[in-house]
Amino acid sequence: MFPDPVFPWPNDAEVGLSITFDDARASQLEVALPILDASGIKATFFVMPAPLEQRADNWRAALVAGHEIGNHTVTHPCTRNFSFIGKNALEAYSLDDMEWEILHCNDRVEQCCGVKPVVFAYPCGQTYVGQGAHTRSYVPLIADHFVAARGFPGERHNLPGRCNLHQVFGCPFDCLTFEAVLAMINAAREERGWLVLAGHDAGDGRQRQTVDEKTLRMLCEYATDPRNRVFADTFGNIAESIKKKNRTAE
Ligand SMILES: [Zn+2]
Repeated sequence: MFPDPVFPWPNDAEVGLSITFDDARASQLEVALPILDASGIKATFFVMPAPLEQRADNWRAALVAGHEIGNHTVTHPCTRNFSFIGKNALEAYSLDDMEWEILHCNDRVEQCCGVKPVVFAYPCGQTYVGQGAHTRSYVPLIADHFVAARGFPGERHNLPGRCNLHQVFGCPFDCLTFEAVLAMINAAREERGWLVLAGHDAGDGRQRQTVDEKTLRMLCEYATDPRNRVFADTFGNIAESIKKKNRTAE
């Protein structure tokens, strides 16, 4: 049977929240981090090594401030149905190719920042290699190497007692108003759930793939007010505590 879905969030909280960003984009350092750091909320950044290495000092400072760096592969392979995908289409990948992606990303993050990622985000949210009868899931490979992994775009919050930690729903965070995010938090609250938000750039939320900085600021203010009973922490920290709780419940 499934473990009890009622999860004991710390500090009398009713809902868990993880804010995550993908691709190590410059606006995350320039716009999102100052807002997060002013509030004390710790976020998770899923990175490819090249943009990480370009701004290594800034990313190291983010780690020192308590944020988490996760693995997002070396070359960001996705389905070739995206026109920006060149040679590294998942349809042409093998499981060995994908293992190279995740191990090399981990090595380069460790060389750059001194920490080895324990969490992963699927590029474009896709979890397979190959095509047709040769399609293979790479979820088992991820489960071998990471505590937890986030998909995209997820439909809803996660139930801590039931969610599949290697296919955690990551809800789109780009271009939302604070009111839209609050509705997601309140839906999660009803089930004592874990809302994982997944964004890309940060700045003007009218731009494509951009978390609105006003929404982020309002969310941080809301989530740090103890009256709102939100427990916000990195994706890895919450995944670890869910893993531990579910292990003791088995
Ligand atoms: Zn990405």
